[in-house]
Amino acid sequence: MIIVKRKPLEEILEMTKDFKKLLILGCDGCASIIQVGGERQARILKLLLEMGQKIKGNGKLKAQAISILRQCDRQIATSSLDPIIAEYDAVVSLSCGVGVQTIADLYKGKLIIPAINTHFLGMHDTKAEKFYEMCLACGDCLLFETGGVCPLTRCAKSLLNGPCGGQASGKCEVGGWQNDCAWVLIYNRLKARNQLDLFGKFRMPRDYRVSGHPRELGGEKENEEGKT
Ligand code: SF4
Ligand code: SF4
Repeated sequence: MIIVKRKPLEEILEMTKDFKKLLILGCDGCASIIQVGGERQARILKLLLEMGQKIKGNGKLKAQAISILRQCDRQIATSSLDPIIAEYDAVVSLSCGVGVQTIADLYKGKLIIPAINTHFLGMHDTKAEKFYEMCLACGDCLLFETGGVCPLTRCAKSLLNGPCGGQASGKCEVGGWQNDCAWVLIYNRLKARNQLDLFGKFRMPRDYRVSGHPRELGGEKENEEGKT
């Protein structure tokens, strides 16, 4: 899922200080699952902003908190927001950067204020209450060859052909030997599966044309290609 974190309240207060009618818009997708951007968080932010602006002497703020199924889906966003968005001076979005941009593109005349910082595509360990970056969305997945461990993401140097000389006792030199060396993880996985031939496989440099941005998928052109 997309891992996000709420911005410091002070930053959100500064961005919203000139508005009197705000829609605090939660997202029930990734941001809600990790309890940063759902309806409850929208309600809490509404209270914090109302209190904060009052304390700062910025006048009375009138805000409403709601949450929609997914801010990154144009149709869902439109059907939820069309009937109400005109009532507000601006929208405070509790979604990742994709949701913020989707809403901003749909309602070009409205200021959409991001209340969240988007960090990475990651795994959630609910027990440890931690998030781990797992994928750079490179567009050409090689996990089949690497024991299900992504060297692009989990090796600090994104090495493709085995470890550098900086690992010690299975830990990576980058960051002071705190994190596991991805290539040691890959070696151990492949060894356990009797697939060490894959460890020695030479990989050419990546074709970054497939991950150059902005990327697009789907639509008429791709559907036509699929038929041939
Ligand atoms: S190789 Fe790594 S970055 Fe690329 S799609 Fe697979 S997991 Fe993601
Ligand atoms: S020690 Fe391992 S994870 Fe760290 S940069 Fe070198 S190969 Fe990558």
